[in-house]
Amino acid sequence: MTKATRDGPLQSQWDAVCGRLRSEIGEAAYQSWLKPITFRDMSDGEVKLSVPTRFMQDWVVAHYVDRLCVLWAGENPDVRRVDVLVQPEHASQRSVEDAPASEPSMRAVGSRVNGGEDPGNDISAPLDPRFTFKRFVVGKPNEFAHAAARRVAEATHVSFNPLFLYGGVGLGKTHLMHAIAWNIRRSTPRRNVIYLSAEKFMYRFIRALREQNTVDFKEQFRSVDVLMIDDVQFIAGKDSTQEEFFHTFNALVDQGRQIVLSADKSPSNLEGMEERLKSRLNCGLVADIHATTYELRVGILESKADQLGVKVPSNVLEFLAHKITANVRELEGALNRIVAHAQLVGREITLETTQEVLHDLLRANDRRVTIEEIQKRVAEHFNVRISDMHSARRARSVARPRQVAMYLAKQLTSRSLPEIGRKFGGRDHTTVMHAVRKVEELRERDASFAEDVELLRRMLEG
Ligand code: ADP
Ligand code: MG
Repeated sequence: MTKATRDGPLQSQWDAVCGRLRSEIGEAAYQSWLKPITFRDMSDGEVKLSVPTRFMQDWVVAHYVDRLCVLWAGENPDVRRVDVLVQPEHASQRSVEDAPASEPSMRAVGSRVNGGEDPGNDISAPLDPRFTFKRFVVGKPNEFAHAAARRVAEATHVSFNPLFLYGGVGLGKTHLMHAIAWNIRRSTPRRNVIYLSAEKFMYRFIRALREQNTVDFKEQFRSVDVLMIDDVQFIAGKDSTQEEFFHTFNALVDQGRQIVLSADKSPSNLEGMEERLKSRLNCGLVADIHATTYELRVGILESKADQLGVKVPSNVLEFLAHKITANVRELEGALNRIVAHAQLVGREITLETTQEVLHDLLRANDRRVTIEEIQKRVAEHFNVRISDMHSARRARSVARPRQVAMYLAKQLTSRSLPEIGRKFGGRDHTTVMHAVRKVEELRERDASFAEDVELLRRMLEG
């Protein structure tokens, strides 16, 4: 192993690759899988990475190596292959049967960048094999977007153009786009389906400009049957790219080709997007993916646990669905982490181990909602003063909202009962306990009250 190669540009390329993947897979998965990876060296287009254990090697190869390879090739066009080796020197000396640390002939498993003979696939980014319709769990928040995506995937002629999917980070936009692409490629292989990120589209366009190759660039895009561009908010504000995109877009629509786009906002809310482009985008079908509900999160966790082939107790799944609400990516990351931990240490997954393993993540999630915020929102909702959250007034008109706020504080933060009590004008923990019970009881009895509480909870979590 050559030490010199570990510093300098290659190391910074690796840092960049890691950074990208980190934002794609979320913090939890990053901590578990990427952080322990060490960059060793690169020669003849082959990058060597090492991980401490065989188990990690299997996991990284199964889940991340293709993506690593693609991202790295994006940073450095010379990269053709990424190998993952087991290098036990990082591990806490757990096993003597592993190969010597300095021995480079360890079992290597890797991924190769596709040579890309097919000119169509040359511009298309690789599709994630896990992002299929079969693996997409449908629930209220995404059923419309899912139905629209299915329709596009199964249609023999263009029905709405473009299909514009939008929603927050990690809610399944990319998954749905890949699913469409997989479906069309399988059912009608002769149709030329191109999927790429808006960033890549821009990058290619700029390169074509620099190389005075824009005619080819245009030709490439204009000969596709289905064009999918992910995260188009990225193009907003970039004038020349936007212009080119607009022309490509118009040309394709005029020829009756299908376009599918995604963004983090609706077309009307995309800042820096030209008006005429906005209105063109609005002409098709705009489908939004809403924040997940508890039910959907449980459904997704069940399905993922199933795919991982592990039995996870339902109270653990419910706990995760309850605690990790931001997006599906984080939820997945959390599940991967507890499964990996259980397999590493050879213990069963329980609620206790889950809390232990996800300690930092759960804290980070808790920090999203503070008791002060809860008090403010609840006071607004019931039209009482914030000071009433702390006051000694016992009139039901203020006592009930206060109880709701205490209940939500218990549900949405990791504060203890005495801590919560203190934040509500120095009340005793038994008062908080009473409030929690009272609210639970009322939720059972009174549907409209239950709905109110649920609405507040969702608002605070969202
Ligand atoms: P986005 O592109 O909206 O940021 P992704 O499509 O990348 O989000 O989704 C993030 C992760 O969550 C992916 O691993 C994806 O498979 C998963 N995911 C999102 N929604 C669902 C769903 N409804 N069912 C199964 N997995 C999902
Ligand atoms: Mg995406």
